[in-house]
Amino acid sequence: MSHLRAAAAGGLRRSGGRAARPAGQSRKGASPRGGTSAPAPAPPPAQHLFSDPSEIEALRGNLLAWYDKSKRDLPWRTLAATEPDANRRAYAVWVSEIMLQQTQVATVIDYYNRWMQKWPTLQALAQASLEEVNELWAGLGYYSRGKRLQEAARKVVTELGGQMPRTAEELQKLLPGVGRYTAGAIASISYGQATGVVDGNVIRVLCRLRCIGADSSSPAVIDRLWDMANALVDRSRPGDFNQALMELGATVCMPKAPLCGECPVKQHCRARRRVEKELAFASQKLFGKPAPVPDVEDCGFGNCPLCPPATEPWDSSLGVTNFPRKAVKKQPRVARTATCVLERRGCHGALEYLIVQRPSSGLLAGLWEFPSLLLAQGLQEEKQREVLADHLQTRMGWPVAAGDLQFIGEVIHVFSHIHQTYVVYSLPLDGDVTLDPALSPSRWVTEEEFHASAVSTAMKKVLKACEKQRGKDSSPGKGSKRKRGAKPQGASSTRPGTQLSLRAFLQAPASL
Ligand code: SF4
Repeated sequence: MSHLRAAAAGGLRRSGGRAARPAGQSRKGASPRGGTSAPAPAPPPAQHLFSDPSEIEALRGNLLAWYDKSKRDLPWRTLAATEPDANRRAYAVWVSEIMLQQTQVATVIDYYNRWMQKWPTLQALAQASLEEVNELWAGLGYYSRGKRLQEAARKVVTELGGQMPRTAEELQKLLPGVGRYTAGAIASISYGQATGVVDGNVIRVLCRLRCIGADSSSPAVIDRLWDMANALVDRSRPGDFNQALMELGATVCMPKAPLCGECPVKQHCRARRRVEKELAFASQKLFGKPAPVPDVEDCGFGNCPLCPPATEPWDSSLGVTNFPRKAVKKQPRVARTATCVLERRGCHGALEYLIVQRPSSGLLAGLWEFPSLLLAQGLQEEKQREVLADHLQTRMGWPVAAGDLQFIGEVIHVFSHIHQTYVVYSLPLDGDVTLDPALSPSRWVTEEEFHASAVSTAMKKVLKACEKQRGKDSSPGKGSKRKRGAKPQGASSTRPGTQLSLRAFLQAPASL
């Protein structure tokens, strides 16, 4: 199974569906008008293929022998190997594969163990609420993964009689959120279906084994890699073979510093062979020996669709890391969000924070956060404060003065496609304050409850920034802009033991 998901050089990561096509859709040769078929594309030059059956056999043997000896002991592997029930086995693999998309193995292990303990079966997961799923997923990122997993589990239970589809094709067709990669992984590991997989690790290994230097994210290259993975997969141990290929990419054939000397398939690697030829040529030249011109050109096939583009020829200083290549990644969008940590002393004196729930769709759907507002570009600090105060007032239904918002600092969090800066403010409140029930979904939480809630890593960073600032403010000789414990205007007459609504607390100073 896959391991380091930040896989290919240049940051290519595995995506469950990125390289997949809808089930049943032909990859090539289909005529859009139903007329004569388009001519089949020419096969790639031999340099980029595994065409010798004996070499394929040798590669499988070498890779599996290495995997048997070196594989990491991972909880989902244990479950896949020991669970006798095919549905539970497939479920266990499925959960791991979804968690491993975009996330490193070391991070996933704890989440996986907690998940499987809480929801050991599809039926248990189908009964969970989205809130529970988000709470357990909190911190793992890409939250829609957990939501989709749960939706798909419900579908299996309610529409498929609790039976997981039994082939890669059916898995991809019937389960939402299951792309070609995930379907292949579940089918090969859980059911022993002889089907290949292509993720970021496999892309890197195959591109190096066969000197594929064209854009590794292009459909043409991805199609070739799927063909190759399907041809290479060991027929008797497909699940182990696929996991071995991914394990190799994660632990040996790494993006920046591959350990070619330790590689079990180095004798099959054309990128390594090319480097060796160059080195031999250089050393012969050094000692003044007549040397043949090295065979370091591209495959010799004019305009080869799998060779590096002419504008980016082989770079000797990069060695095998010339492969794979990927088109330059689009820069993440820049965004600024004002966020306010509203805090109060709870009934036992512990600090409490107000959190609100995000909408049920879009980024961080359904998660809880401090009240926040996306800012227009170029707003000055004073204006930011004003719009945030207005936002709080509109959303919560009580007046907030911009001057009462204490600036804490800026917190940066990079999502996959957004470079997000949170401009953090705090607003300390005192007194017995409760929220108007009409203002939901929002709630006050202690720090412990905050961390146990479905909150994003970004919000945890925001709280940390506040706590750091509080530490500075409370150090000797320093005070916060607004003294802690000082009651906002109108709060002084709060009667002991009276629970006021926040609206009343802030809106009616004279009447209390
Ligand atoms: Fe990767 Fe090096 Fe092995 Fe080739 S020899 S597959 S580049 S680790």
